[in-house]
Amino acid sequence: MTRTASGEAEPMAAASSAQTTFDSLDPRTGEVVGRYPLHDATEVNEIVESARVAGRWWAELGFAERKKRLDQWRALLVRGIDELAGVICSETGKPLDDARLELVLVIDHLHWAANKAEKVLRRRKVGSGVLMANQAATVEYVPFGVVGVIGPWNYPAFTPMGSIAYALAAGNSVVFKPSELTPGVGRWLVDSFAEVVPEHPVLALTTGFGETGAALCASGVDKVAFTGSTATGKRVMAACSETLTPVLVECGGKDALIVDSDADLKAAAEAAVWGGMSNAGQTCIGVERVFVVEAVADRFLELVAERAKKLRPGGEPGADLGPITMPSQVEVIRRHVDEALDGGARAVVGGKDSVRPPFVEPVVLVDVPAGSAAAVDETFGPTLVVERVRDADEGVERANQGNYGLGGTVFSRSRGVELGRKLRAGMVAVNSVIAFAAVPALPFGGVGDSGFGRIHGEDGLREFARPQSMTRTKFRIPLNPMSFARSKGTVRAVVRLIRLTRGR
Ligand code: NDP
Repeated sequence: MTRTASGEAEPMAAASSAQTTFDSLDPRTGEVVGRYPLHDATEVNEIVESARVAGRWWAELGFAERKKRLDQWRALLVRGIDELAGVICSETGKPLDDARLELVLVIDHLHWAANKAEKVLRRRKVGSGVLMANQAATVEYVPFGVVGVIGPWNYPAFTPMGSIAYALAAGNSVVFKPSELTPGVGRWLVDSFAEVVPEHPVLALTTGFGETGAALCASGVDKVAFTGSTATGKRVMAACSETLTPVLVECGGKDALIVDSDADLKAAAEAAVWGGMSNAGQTCIGVERVFVVEAVADRFLELVAERAKKLRPGGEPGADLGPITMPSQVEVIRRHVDEALDGGARAVVGGKDSVRPPFVEPVVLVDVPAGSAAAVDETFGPTLVVERVRDADEGVERANQGNYGLGGTVFSRSRGVELGRKLRAGMVAVNSVIAFAAVPALPFGGVGDSGFGRIHGEDGLREFARPQSMTRTKFRIPLNPMSFARSKGTVRAVVRLIRLTRGR
């Protein structure tokens, strides 16, 4: 089976008839670029069991030794950047430099996670408070054990590595289920990790379709980190609820870019086009909607159109945009564009003919009917819906009306941060686009239909560890209210103390 970004299933032509393996295809040509096992639940459980043993060993290595291994892995990724970028290109079709850029971000995040894990997660003292002054209080963040990571195909290295790198740095083993469209990228990551950690399968791979992902959720892993569509995220959460397995759910988005009247319009147009159309629009934090203040809307649209018209999709490594990786997504894009145009929208760039499978040429729409799919649902193609607003505040209000809340962008010289803080979004870029994803210290994740939990940053490390709190008695105190041996006056004395210290 293969899926649309909204999670609908359809038959997958590339599956072999015996259904014990499946093929990975180059979306530009349909050529088979790899064959992978279709793991069933029994095989998934075996992989998880081995990872459990590996996880205990990995946790016991401690921060310093894990950092050493993760640094070695990073060096290996740096040396292999072109090779892995080639695998990404062959499975997603994206331009080679886009794949390289994806890996640059992976490497920087891995560096950050390995370096910061000890500082963020190690045992540390906390204040013991007025009532427990005789106690030494500490908290440390201990690994869960085995983390199941389920990844999408659009950034097949960057997206899952946001969980994998941080989960490993926190001391967990990881079983990774890549998208059925990009198993080769998963294989490469896992094999390269095994070169620096040959002792145990600390990072293990399981391959297959959605059923394999479902089996991973039910396998008894200690946490599931899912990135993918909202529809599948709900299924993952439902499956995990059976065993109270904690989940991190990173789903889709319908991110907005707000252009204020005092914005640098050239920069805003550049950002809208890159944010909406790079990776052929297949970016969870891609710009899908633009709200531009009426006073500057004509000029902004001119600048956007000028830039978008120049972009050419193609299969060659130097093309501006690659193909739509998942064949069924082309129909979603077609439906969004057609419905909008049939409902009265106008195409400033492209139009119905822009959809030429497996490629989609840039499309910029205005006057899109409110509530139409192109305005509210994730399109996941190189399209922009541009809407005029009275002022930037109306833009923020309209942006906040959707169900998604992943990222957001504001272009404004005077009010960028103020407007950004009002956006209902997990991450905001002011006067740039998508920048937050490249800052390892910043947590990444959304609200509403975009999911919950965070990868990246200190929160991303803590997402893969559970706090263990501890108190240790430093000395005995005469007034112990938590004992049957307490005297009548003890609680009264404690109440007096709390009145004195907390009564004002
Ligand atoms: P899907 O939801 O279709 O699939 C995601 C992963 O889940 C795949 O590995 C898939 O396997 C697996 N899966 C499918 N069914 C199940 C199931 N029942 N139980 C467990 N796992 C299952 O998403 P896509 O791969 O199509 O990715 C695109 C989506 O991802 C977009 O909505 C995009 O916005 C979102 N995304 C979100 C990001 C974020 O950080 N918030 C980042 C990147 C993408 P298989 O492929 O074999 O079906």
